[in-house]
Amino acid sequence: MRYDVLTIFPGFFNGILQHGLLKRASARGRVDIRIHDLRDYTDDRHRTVDDRPFGGGPGMVLKPEPIFRAVEALRQDAGEQDFPVILLSPQGRLFNQELAEQLTRHPRIALICGRYEGVDERVAEHLATDELSIGDYVLSGGELAAAVLMEVTTRLLPGVLGNEDSLARESFADSTAGPLRFAALDWPHYTRPADFRGLRVPEVLLSGDHQRIREWRERQALLKASKRRPELLVRTEASAIPLAAASLSGGH
Ligand code: SAM
Repeated sequence: MRYDVLTIFPGFFNGILQHGLLKRASARGRVDIRIHDLRDYTDDRHRTVDDRPFGGGPGMVLKPEPIFRAVEALRQDAGEQDFPVILLSPQGRLFNQELAEQLTRHPRIALICGRYEGVDERVAEHLATDELSIGDYVLSGGELAAAVLMEVTTRLLPGVLGNEDSLARESFADSTAGPLRFAALDWPHYTRPADFRGLRVPEVLLSGDHQRIREWRERQALLKASKRRPELLVRTEASAIPLAAASLSGGH
């Protein structure tokens, strides 16, 4: 999968590309991450990427020309191949695991990082194919949001995580139970020591009874989700069936 990131702060990505998952996935050739400096697409001596907002008000706005030119250059380079052009924005659709899975179906995506007061609206209206937000809060720039999106999608690509089994059981992974289709949260994990300052690991995990352990984990995952994120449990094929926390709370 190829990512083209358009930013006025290309140096921002040095850290995340040189550590952990994105570094490993790049080294294995599973992803190709290209960072483009929007200033390279300006045509004035000062390499101007921002300007004051029409109508007045505080702050600066990213100008449309460098962003349009950068995306046009990418499209020219891609030839016939169409790809999503995503503007990171707090006003966009909320990015989640399901959207991440959908994005992995594209061999290539471009990410536009805003700054300051944001990006000239003509980019959202006439250039970007989608606007995505990583949460209901405001960051200073789209770079962190682009990094989040790249990390979340990259770890879903085949051959990136050592243990692919863990993907199916992670928080937000699609699950089914009878008529329900839902995304639960992960179950609680424990490691040695079994007794830490009197805080004991649940006995069932020490029992060696794999059937009981599986049932306990599934119940705990549902219980956690029903307490913290009940909205995750009501996505069904046919109709919304709310799960009562009380019916899940038995058996430790
Ligand atoms: N004036 C904008 C508003 O109130 O909606 C906020 C602009 S923000 C300070 C600057 C840039 O950070 C945005 O253009 C966007 O690229 C990025 N950004 C901020 N919060 C974000 C979020 N929750 N998700 C994705 N991108 C975000």
